Amino acid sequence: MKKMGIVLLLALVFLSGCSRGETSKPTVEPTEPAVVEPVEPEPEPEPSPVMVMDESPVVFQIGDEAEEILPVQQALYLMNYDVDETSIYDEKTEAAVLAFKLTQEDLIPNGECTEWTQERILSEAERRSINEPDSLLVLANKTYYLAADYVPEDLVQPDVFNYYEDKRELRAPAAEALEILFTAAEEEGYKLVFRSGFRSYDIQKIIFERKVKERGFEAANQVSAKPGQSEHQTGLAADITSWSVKNALDEAFGETPEGIWVAENAHLFGFIIRYQIDTVNITKYQYEPWHLRYVGIEDATRIYEAGVTLEEYLGEI
Ligand SMILES: [Zn+2]
Repeated sequence: MKKMGIVLLLALVFLSGCSRGETSKPTVEPTEPAVVEPVEPEPEPEPSPVMVMDESPVVFQIGDEAEEILPVQQALYLMNYDVDETSIYDEKTEAAVLAFKLTQEDLIPNGECTEWTQERILSEAERRSINEPDSLLVLANKTYYLAADYVPEDLVQPDVFNYYEDKRELRAPAAEALEILFTAAEEEGYKLVFRSGFRSYDIQKIIFERKVKERGFEAANQVSAKPGQSEHQTGLAADITSWSVKNALDEAFGETPEGIWVAENAHLFGFIIRYQIDTVNITKYQYEPWHLRYVGIEDATRIYEAGVTLEEYLGEI
């Protein structure tokens, strides 16, 4: 009997040893699959990054004056650095170049404008230029900007109550939507006033530079848009107000019955309140309950219902 047991055991060992073979599949499937603890694969050692630092030749240094400095200054200006467009590599330009280089891992952080630095500044500025300015979802902000010569082709004067005698313009779909919004407001007893619509690059430049003179560059950049970065240049932004705040563009508008009605209903007409009270860190603008942005009813409703900014909605933060 003992011998028989050993033979059986050997046979079992043999069979189980062959069970992976094609010809000797087990006749009885195990009722419960064996629990196999997953084995964590050994993490592959990360190759250490090879950082090639900028050793390209210096192209501009302090005091230089050259035609090629101007596009670098223009690019830095659009990227929110405080520079003057002089074609002279002055101290302000040097400080801006240093600040830009600090944002780039492979550029040595000093104020020298090397060949790499020059290329990087120009390509970064290029990346941020808007290439579909006519889209109703165009994002013009402190990161993405419109070309100086961009003027929408379908500007019209909305037939609403205007603050200025020279009636301001909007792009046709925004103008039509504003008319409908104003009429709906009036039916509810709210009288609205249209103050500002399309502004060209050049007008925005005058406004921004006036603000810089009044408050300095940083403060101006908080409350006013640089040329190219204003939503008003898209023709899709409308500043509106009401008699109850003496037609001012003021935060108090948000507290008025008119302002509250607009905040609650603008999306039904295709507008969003672009700069909300608690979104300064995303939009980089102060609260502006008067600044409406047209995006179309469908997107405005989604943005309103999700309670997000246009930046978040477009995944651009
Ligand atoms: Zn505005």
